[in-house]
Amino acid sequence: MNNDNVLPLLGDEAAALGAVHAGLSAAYGYPGTPSTEILEYLIEAAERAGDEPGAFRAAWCANEKTALEAALGTSFAGRRALVTMKHVGLNVAADPFINGSLLGIKGGLVLAVADDPGMHSSQNEQDSRFYAAFAMIPCLEPRSQQEAYDMTREAFDISERFQTPVMLRLVTRLSHARSGVRVSAGRPQNPAAKSGDKTRWMLLPVHARRNYDSLIRRQAEIAVWSAAHRAAGTNRLESGGDGGNRRGLAVITGGLGGNYYEENLEDLINQRGAAPARLHIGAYPLPLESIRKLCAGAEEVLVIEEGQPFIEERLRGILPQPIPIHGKLDGTVPRTGELDPDNVRQALGLAPRPGVLAAVPPLPGRPPQLCAGCPHGDSYAVINKVTAELDSRPGHPDAAVCSDIGCYSLGAAPPWEAIETIVCMGASIGMARGAAEAGLPYSIAVIGDSTFIHSGITGLIDAAAANSPMTVIILDNSIVAMTGCQPTMIPSAKLLPLILGCGADPAHVFELEARKEFLEENAARLRVEVEYRGLSVVIFRRECLEAYRRRRKREAGEANKGEAQ
Ligand code: SF4
Repeated sequence: MNNDNVLPLLGDEAAALGAVHAGLSAAYGYPGTPSTEILEYLIEAAERAGDEPGAFRAAWCANEKTALEAALGTSFAGRRALVTMKHVGLNVAADPFINGSLLGIKGGLVLAVADDPGMHSSQNEQDSRFYAAFAMIPCLEPRSQQEAYDMTREAFDISERFQTPVMLRLVTRLSHARSGVRVSAGRPQNPAAKSGDKTRWMLLPVHARRNYDSLIRRQAEIAVWSAAHRAAGTNRLESGGDGGNRRGLAVITGGLGGNYYEENLEDLINQRGAAPARLHIGAYPLPLESIRKLCAGAEEVLVIEEGQPFIEERLRGILPQPIPIHGKLDGTVPRTGELDPDNVRQALGLAPRPGVLAAVPPLPGRPPQLCAGCPHGDSYAVINKVTAELDSRPGHPDAAVCSDIGCYSLGAAPPWEAIETIVCMGASIGMARGAAEAGLPYSIAVIGDSTFIHSGITGLIDAAAANSPMTVIILDNSIVAMTGCQPTMIPSAKLLPLILGCGADPAHVFELEARKEFLEENAARLRVEVEYRGLSVVIFRRECLEAYRRRRKREAGEANKGEAQ
């Protein structure tokens, strides 16, 4: 191997570089763990390239929907585009995603969607393979950093070949682990040349019906591609140690489940005398014929896949004969959380590895907390003071505090315990409105500035139009802090005009500084606003400490550079 071409890359970075080498022209996304590093890598690379020939554009967007729409525009212009998001971001982008599969994709369009089995930093464990099947588009699922690079390049090619968006499904362990990746020469970007066939891009019913027929017809071709997919051993039938004639267990693996299976294979062979027949699936739609062949002589099948039981649920309608199917649905494989070599070992019926389950003394819990001195802490001190007063009044129901997703979600934890709901990006405002209109007298929404831009604006417009008796508290720390300090789409100075533009009454919109020393002053203002029987908006503002630290470091670096020149 020529080590000059081997780079140590995170899975996310490997996907990003694969896109660059596939002739990427533009990348858009919204930060969300574990996908954030894909676009961070591309933004840095784009900044380094400047205006050089072959430079591409990479930018954060207000949310995943606007990111995907920008990528669709790039494809319409004939150029290759990548859009990045975490799994729940695909819910936000679902409208252009599902409709995008009906379009005549011109420049390759790839969605890199990173799932989070085990919910390390997410509110659910949804598996994006279901979305790919729902939209009837191809999906590639790498299980190594090398595959992340190779499959991203391939994804652009098949996107143009089948005129369809293609999903690259990543998971946390792959996105955030580093390994050597062999890279090869890049391909030039496509020239800008817009699609000549407007009917493929206009989803008026008359065109949409034809496009939907075309999508259905393409399924057969896509299925042939998937069935023949052999890169890195995906979708290839392994006949097992006896040439495939031995009746018994058949194994289907998917994603990282394939790695954990292989880690245990030697012990499995020692125990059984031969390897079971096996199929590793890394390209979707499912390779139906290979699955049927695998299971034709088997007495039972075990499915080991990372995420939800996507393959397993589909087997019933595929298998030629009714044989027991083991996996997540019957509890052979854990139904929730991540797979690992040990729980896959157990699913294979192997004894635990010696020493692995050594007793360790219980460690003290280290729940995540707001940074010491975080502005959100000072805002929660105000909110708690006011809501405690409201709650202590005899005969009054509790004040309701609906919150949202960001660092300030940690307001749910001690010592604050200030919030009661966290559902999805932007939900706080709509939920507070519903609670207010249901009769709760003190209904409060707590939302960060970037989450407000992402999907809180429309909720505020609803609340303003109805003049609902509620208070929206916007915690403006001038950054997307939770995912590593990405920039917000608009600066703090533009937040007030935006809120007023949504229809809020200027007499009930206030900007306050989130500082300990203003506790009483801020509480006095909030007390008045929660009593107002219409919509009020209070912005608590102070820069995130981590953003401040990074900004000062950057400014010092720039000053040093200036002096040196
Ligand atoms: S990163 Fe910033 S916003 Fe997040 S907890 Fe720390 S100081 Fe607060």
